[in-house]
Amino acid sequence: MAIEIRILGTRGADNAVLVTINTGQHISRLLMDCGENTVSELTLSESGQIDHVLFSHFHMDHVAGFDVFFRRHYDRADRLNHIWGPPGTGEIMGHRFRGFVWNLIGDRRSTWLSHDIGKEHVTTVRHELAEAFAQAHAEESNAAPGLLFQGPGYHVEALALSHGIASIGYVVREADRFNVDTGKLKELGLKPGPWLKTLATDDTSLIDGIPYQAEPLRQALLIRNPGDSMAFLTDFIAEGDELNRIAERIHGVGTLVCECQYRAADAELARRNFHMTTTWVAQLAEQASPQRLLLTHFSERYTPEEWDDMVAEVRARFPNVQAV
Ligand SMILES: [Zn+2]
Ligand SMILES: [Zn+2]
Repeated sequence: MAIEIRILGTRGADNAVLVTINTGQHISRLLMDCGENTVSELTLSESGQIDHVLFSHFHMDHVAGFDVFFRRHYDRADRLNHIWGPPGTGEIMGHRFRGFVWNLIGDRRSTWLSHDIGKEHVTTVRHELAEAFAQAHAEESNAAPGLLFQGPGYHVEALALSHGIASIGYVVREADRFNVDTGKLKELGLKPGPWLKTLATDDTSLIDGIPYQAEPLRQALLIRNPGDSMAFLTDFIAEGDELNRIAERIHGVGTLVCECQYRAADAELARRNFHMTTTWVAQLAEQASPQRLLLTHFSERYTPEEWDDMVAEVRARFPNVQAV
C-alpha cells in the first residue's frame, strides 16, 4: 500500500494520525488532529515535512499538541503552512498564533493559511509571521468540501460529521496508477519511448515522429491499478440514515481510521456526548467494507481490559480490526 498510516498517542489518551502518501517520486505528509503528546512522538525532521494539518474540530483533546508543531515550525518558509478544519478554524488559529509574544522574529518570514470548511464552500485567511500574525487577510480559495486540495498523486475530500458541533472527517484518495502492458506493446510493434510516460494524460502520442491518437493506445496498453485510500472519522455520532450516508461516502476505502469512544452498553452516554459505540462502529465498517479498520479515541472512563473487550466487540462483527 502506498498510503501509510501512523497513529500517534496511546489508547485512552489523545491521538493524532500521520498519513504518508508515497508515489515513488514524491512523498506527502498529512497530520490529522494534534492531541497532547502526539507531535512530540515525531522527530523535528518528520514534523517539518508535514504538508497539511487537518483538524476534525477544536475540542482540546484534538488540539492540545498543536503548540508543539507550531513551536517547532512557526517560521517554516520552505512551503505554505496549511491548516484545515470546521467553520471557525481561521479565527481560532488567529487567536492561537497571537497567543505568543513575537518581538524576536527579526527578518524571519512564514505564511499560514487557515481554511474553514463549510457545508458548500471553503473560506481561507492568511496570517503572516512578519506581521506578528496580527492581521487575518481574506484569500481567494478554489477549495470545496468535495475536493479540498490535490497533491502529487492524491487528493483530499471533507466529510461533514455531527458531534453536537460541526466535526470534519477526511478522505484521502490516491490517483489510480497505470502500468504499461509490455507484451501488448511488442505485439503492436510500437517502439517504447518518452511517449509512454505521458500516455495516461496525452491527447496525441508522438511515436518515432508519427502522431497517434492516445485514447486507443491507452485502451490497448495501460493496465489500471486502483489507488489506495483512507478515511479518518473521529468525534461524531452516526446511527440510521446518518450512518448510511457516511458508509456510502467511504464505501470500499482502503483503511478506515475511526473513533471508538464507548462500549455498546453505553449507547445513551454516547448519544448525550455525540460519540460512537462499538455497535455503531462495527455497523459502519460492515456497510462501508474498508479493507481494514483502525480504532482510536477510546474513552478514558474504561480500564485497559475493557478497551480490549471493546475491540473484541467490534471484531465479532468486523474481523479485520486493529486498535492503537
Ligand atoms: Zn475527542
Ligand atoms: Zn470532540
